Order: sequence, then C-alpha cells, then structure tokens
Amino acid sequence: NVRVRFAPSPTGPLHIGGVRTALFNYLFAKKHGGDFVLRIEDTDQNRYVEGAEEYIVKSLDWCGMSFDEGPGKNEKFGPYRQSERKHLYKQYADDLIANGKAYYAFDTSEQLDAERKGHEAEGKTFIYNWHNRAKGRLVNSLVLTEAETKAKIEAGDDYVIRFKSPQDETLHLTDIIRGNMKIDTNVLDDKILFKSDGMPTYHLANIVDDHLMEITHVIRGEEWLPSLALHQLLYDAFGWDAPEFAHLPLILKPTGKGKLSKRDGDKMGFPVFPLEYTAPDGTVSRGYKEDGYFPEAVVNFLAFLGWNPGTEQEIFSLEQLVADFDLARVNKAGARFDPDKTKWFNHHYMQQQLDLNLAEQFKATQPELAEMDVNYIALAVGLIKERATFVSDFWDLSHFFFTAPTSYDEKASKKALKEDTADIMNSVIERVNATDDFTVENLQTNIKGWITDNEISFGKVMMPLRLALVGALQGPDVFDIMYMIGKTETVKRIETLIK
Ligand code: GLU
Repeated sequence: NVRVRFAPSPTGPLHIGGVRTALFNYLFAKKHGGDFVLRIEDTDQNRYVEGAEEYIVKSLDWCGMSFDEGPGKNEKFGPYRQSERKHLYKQYADDLIANGKAYYAFDTSEQLDAERKGHEAEGKTFIYNWHNRAKGRLVNSLVLTEAETKAKIEAGDDYVIRFKSPQDETLHLTDIIRGNMKIDTNVLDDKILFKSDGMPTYHLANIVDDHLMEITHVIRGEEWLPSLALHQLLYDAFGWDAPEFAHLPLILKPTGKGKLSKRDGDKMGFPVFPLEYTAPDGTVSRGYKEDGYFPEAVVNFLAFLGWNPGTEQEIFSLEQLVADFDLARVNKAGARFDPDKTKWFNHHYMQQQLDLNLAEQFKATQPELAEMDVNYIALAVGLIKERATFVSDFWDLSHFFFTAPTSYDEKASKKALKEDTADIMNSVIERVNATDDFTVENLQTNIKGWITDNEISFGKVMMPLRLALVGALQGPDVFDIMYMIGKTETVKRIETLIK
C-alpha cells in the first residue's frame, strides 16, 4: 500500500514550490490508490509562525488536494504534529547511543566557533566527524569516559546527540528521479539528532515519523538531496527499511537563472503563493486565488513544473493528472517558472467555467453591477470572456452592456465620424425602430440588407454605430450588443452620438 506524506514546516506561507511538492505527492498517492498524509514538522520552535498550518491546510483545500490523514483527520497514525509527538523521539536517539551509532556532545557554541575559525585559518573547512571528533579538543562521549559523560549529564550540562557517521565508506544511494548516486562518507557531518532544548532535529523526527507512519515513498524538493545520505544511514542504523526517495527538481526564476525565491513574486509582479499572505509584520504578499486565478489553472501549471506527459497535451484536470502522472517522467533539470504560462492556463479554464458562476463573481466584485440581474450579466460574460484572462478583466471588456458611453475615444471618433454620419445613423435608427421582433438575426437582416440595397460602405455604418454603442471601436458583435441593451437604449445611444 503506497503511503506518501507532505511534511511542511509551519515557518511561513507555503510557496508554490511547496504546493508543487504536495501536488506530486497527491498525484502519486491517488495514482496508486494510496494514502496522502499531511504531517506538520514543527520541531524548530524558533521558526514557528502562528497561522502557518492553517494557511497550508487552506491552500491544499483550494487546490482540491484533500489529505487522507493529518491533523484532525483520520488520525490512525497520529498525532500528525511533531510538537505533539515530542515524547516519542528521545528513546530513538537513546537507542542509537546504546548501539554505538550516536554519541553525546557537550561542545559550547563558542568552542565550535573557535574550531571553525581555527580550521578556516588553515584554509580548511571544519567537519564535525571522525576527522575531528576524537582529537581531544571536542567534548563528547567518544573522548570522555563513561563516568565523565554521566557526570556531565547529571550535572545538567547542555548536550546534543550527534549521529556517528562512518569513516571511509562509500554509500550507494538511489533516487527514483536521479538514479544511483555514490557518496563518500568522509564528507558527512555528524549531524545533530537531538537538541539541547529537548527537541529532535528535523533529521531524527523525519526518519522516525516516516517509519512509524509507514511511509513508502518520500517525494520532496531537491534541497533535501544533501540529507539523503544521512537519512539512509539513519534507516540502516535503526535497522529499518528505508522508503523510496524522489527528489523533485528546483523551480527556477522566469529568467531561468537561479532558484525562484519567495520574494521574486512581489518583485517581478506575479504571485508565488497560493493564497494571499499577511506576515506577522503586516506585509502582504499576493496570492493566486486573490489575483483571480482558478485553482484548476494553478494545478495544471504546477504539474508541468518538472513533469511532462511525453505528448503534446497541455490541458490536464486533476483527475487526468492522477491518471497520467508518473515519477519516471519527472526531470532532474530545474523547471523554469513562467508566469505567462499560468495566465494562458487561466484563460483556458475561464472558458470552461459556467457563465453564471463567472457572472456571480463579477457581480460580487463590481459595484456598478450591484443591482443588475445576474442572468443578464451572464449573457454579457458569455460574449466577452473569450478575450479575458481574469474576472477582473471583465469590466473593461463589457461595461457598455451596463452603462452608456460617457465619452468617445478620440482616435476612433476621427476614424468613424464623417460628414454623412448623422444621416446614415438616422436611417439606422429607422431600421432599428422597424425591427419589431428584436432579435440578433432580425437586426442583422434588416441593417445589413439595408446596407447592401443602398450600396453604402459597410464601415460608414458599422464604425459610427459601434462608437455610439461602445464609445470605442472594440467589443463584440454590434448586433449582439444592440440585442442585449434593447431597442430603446440602442436608439438613445445612436441619438446621443449625432446630437
Ligand atoms: N519539513 C521539511 C520541509 O519543510 C520536510 C522535508 C521532507 O519532506 O523530508 O520541507
């Protein structure tokens, strides 16, 4: 049974890279009929941000990726917040000490700084591992006697528990996306597993929980690849089977140079967060939702950040993604973030929406529409949405369905208004008035018929007519507009133009 987890740390808003990780986990789980678990990794109390967990849950919801297990939901492997599992981790660190895979270290940060500086002065980097750990300058249970170690602990000295990484070994690692990798254990730090504040580090808690929660596949961002060796060693040290790993490619800036950062969005004018986020200091970062994106568009676009179906198909619903997703088709190379592509997807999903739904959103955001019949708004939306990317584009594209022009575009007027315009428009008014059954077809037949019969130039009629109705030379078909606003309003607008 496939079990995957999305394991964010609630240190701020979930950004688009995190949502992509969640999505790939979700798709993989659903594809294999497995479970998608949400685990909150909040062991670093200094970085904890109030409200961040709620933000994560809301973001997943908005995208339509509901988790099967997590805080407050189907808690069979719970609790799912690491802060609520605190009591659980120490015994695992102790077990590693007992079998010689870990040790106590009492070094103060001053001592460690001095070591680091000393090494730097010699042009070397300081690695806390077998190179240095037993040389005598570092204070840990590998150089102290058992009695000394015990005395220090009993005296209440601060200590951490470090993993004892092996010397002179070559580790073989496997990643579904990256294949086989080799790593020399001599470059590995003896990472801290358990901190002096009584909390486990990410590494220990993550491995213990993945084991206890029976996670079968770890799918996470490339930034965790350097931790893979330690994680593999930890599984071995505990004598547990490791899950399979897949490290997703970086998301790159639109320029393709460098990693997309949380700040890039606001700097470059596009969102990088699913939902708007107000930081504790009051700064607001824009979100896809508030910027008018449909969740389907965001999901579709995220799926292509690192994955492709191997065909030309670009439009995928969440269900289709579940059916077609395959980790074997995820690239190693960084995926360039393209904000214009998101807009392209949004335009597409806009066309799929029901006009009535769009009309409701439009009405709710446009004060001028407060009193308008939503069915009428929906008809207008149906005529213009093809040219819109966001609901916020609607007003500019459709205001003339709701209010008469208050001015005429200058260039358009120059082009459209000629000496004989008033005469021609008076005739159009006659034709309009003569159209009893006021349908688009009848209007078309009457006016176009009259144009051909009298051999008038098409532009001499249609341009001023459009100008009268819209105030500019853009917009949907004039006959649609006339039909929508009705006979009286049509006549009124033409009269206003030639007055
Ligand atoms: N808590 C880690 C994060 O915030 C999880 C990394 C992992 O999936 O192992 O990304």
